[in-house]
Amino acid sequence: MNEAELLFTQALGCDRLALYLNKHKYLGQDEAAFISSALSRRIKGEPLQYILGKAEFMGLEIEVNPDVLIPRPETEILAARALEYAKQEQARDVLDLGTGSGCIAVALAKHLTGLKLDASDISDRALAVAARNALAHGVNIHFIRSDLFAALSCGKYDMIVSNPPYIVSAQIRKLQPELSYEPVLALAGGADGLNFYRRIIPGAPDYLKKNGLLIMEIGLGQRPAIEKIFLDAGKFELTEVIKDYNNVERVLVARKADQDG
Ligand code: GLN
Repeated sequence: MNEAELLFTQALGCDRLALYLNKHKYLGQDEAAFISSALSRRIKGEPLQYILGKAEFMGLEIEVNPDVLIPRPETEILAARALEYAKQEQARDVLDLGTGSGCIAVALAKHLTGLKLDASDISDRALAVAARNALAHGVNIHFIRSDLFAALSCGKYDMIVSNPPYIVSAQIRKLQPELSYEPVLALAGGADGLNFYRRIIPGAPDYLKKNGLLIMEIGLGQRPAIEKIFLDAGKFELTEVIKDYNNVERVLVARKADQDG
């Protein structure tokens, strides 16, 4: 749905088809007030998803608020590929590192039964949103408050997926105005955007099982620098680079080299 459709279906409590079937000819006072206040917030730059309190991800409605990043279509590429790998390799224990709204973990749990999902985040407020999303979709996810791997268990996972913050911190205010409504914690990747990769890539092998997979989203043009971080860490084999709808290298898949079992 486009933004106008999203706004009107929410205001009228109807589906998209009903809008066009002209079932609602007139707006009630409350409906008109809701739309006018939503429009004035939207005009100031607030993302529609925060105004409506929800976003769509992998066909699922995900609750969002300014404590969490709004799920992006690019991240669906990561989630879809992770699902394929999980099926192929019969993965069981999966970690969503930096789960935010919980969108990736919930989508994995919803689309593939039999996974044992852990989802971590440094933010208690984000974890509260993620837990509500898991509940709303009837999936069982174990949420853990953790600064990256700090509170996680070693050697546990067949697969770690992550969409870490990767925007160059100084650029956040210069990009779309909508970004200034999202939590800096979920966006900012430090001076060159790569801080989290520098921690995740050397850290992840200890938390993966033998031949385990690390699947990460990356930012525009970051692939060569991140590939170097992989090389320096020396514990992974980079197995796949997936492009997004704009032909930008967006998702990296790496397999733990089996040197240490
Ligand atoms: N995993 C969440 C998402 O992809 C949150 C990511 C983040 O906060 N950087 O939307």
